Amino acid sequence: MVKINSNYERLAGSYLFSTIAKKVRAFEESGPDKSIIRLGIGDVTRPLTPTVIKALHDAVDEMADEKSFRGYAPDLGYDFLRRAICENDFAARSCRVDEDEVFISDGAKPDSGNIQEIFDGKCRIAVCDPVYPVYVDSNVMAGRAGTLGTDGRYSDIVYLPCTAENGFSPQLPDSVCDIIYLCSPNNPTGEAMTKEALQKWVDYANANGSVIIFDAAYEAYISEEGIPHSIYECSGARECAIELRSFSKNAGFTGLRLGYAVVPKDIIRDGVSLNALWARRHSTKYNGAPYIVQRAGEAVYSPEGKMEIRGLVNFYMENASYILSHLKEAGHTVYGGVNSPYVWLAVPSGMTSWDFFDYLLERAGVVGTPGSGFGACGEGYFRLTSFGSHENTREAVDRICAL
Ligand SMILES: *Cc1c(COP(=O)(O)O)cnc(C)c1O
Repeated sequence: MVKINSNYERLAGSYLFSTIAKKVRAFEESGPDKSIIRLGIGDVTRPLTPTVIKALHDAVDEMADEKSFRGYAPDLGYDFLRRAICENDFAARSCRVDEDEVFISDGAKPDSGNIQEIFDGKCRIAVCDPVYPVYVDSNVMAGRAGTLGTDGRYSDIVYLPCTAENGFSPQLPDSVCDIIYLCSPNNPTGEAMTKEALQKWVDYANANGSVIIFDAAYEAYISEEGIPHSIYECSGARECAIELRSFSKNAGFTGLRLGYAVVPKDIIRDGVSLNALWARRHSTKYNGAPYIVQRAGEAVYSPEGKMEIRGLVNFYMENASYILSHLKEAGHTVYGGVNSPYVWLAVPSGMTSWDFFDYLLERAGVVGTPGSGFGACGEGYFRLTSFGSHENTREAVDRICAL
């Protein structure tokens, strides 16, 4: 009789988005006088840009011709894409990343879930609170989390509170953590770590033999000086940090699927190169991102591609700045929205995140995401996203401000 991986039974139910959907449906059925506007979506809405579309079409045509047809892609990615990444995302920022340290994948979510496989089952993990749930759940599945408490926290995970008091920047823990997940600019808080703050974590990791998993999916949204675009801007990061990147939020590839992980050859643990371990894992379990999608990724780095991607990011950031400035003017306390497409709103005192969700839905027909759904420290906050149209975003914000 087969037994299941019982770690899966330790997963907390993912009620957040199903509860939101249920509440929205009930509201719709009550025959409201207002249309519903969703400012909760974490998915882009603008179409792929012309340069990307052309690269896709051209690559499709190559696949139709015997002379240019391509079969299996190299497991770790095509050289043309790895080269473009090294030059544009790293060398241009004076960071050293070699081509054989870049592993092309189908996105940062799969990478952030899979990366834990190369570490021992007893490693102690640390995550920010609030947190992108994939980091936690993938470690629950692997048996590293311990038991789930009534407070929604796992006994063996170290939670790093990110609150207004610490500027939403995780502070070093008292105990030693082996694997530390950092996401900056952050989903859900929308805040980004400064270079000094990130450098402290790199120093901590090198002092303790820890490894940092740095999720930089929102790198393209950074608008301020002093915010690192890559963890490799910090000295010593090549000895302790893995960086994850995605083409989803900058270039709109959420449906196309493309990302990459950087695993420097300088990270040695237990006398073993993590670069070699990840190469082994990747080539065993993954058969490469599609050729046409890697060509589309290459096009993102062309001069026209870069301009178009800037246009996409600017489009969403216009929404973010509208949300931010108008909510502020109306007396709300808001964070994020400057180096990321997320605005993190402090809910009015006396209300929980869910109270505020119900209040916004019923009174304004606006849907957001309750902060408590991302962790205990998210209680009292509410996430609004900038991925909608200008028209819907303005209408939603105007309705909130009129309450
Ligand atoms: C959207 C997002 C990603 C990107 O995931 P993909 O699989 O590349 O689409 C990664 N990390 C965080 C925190 C995100 O919000």
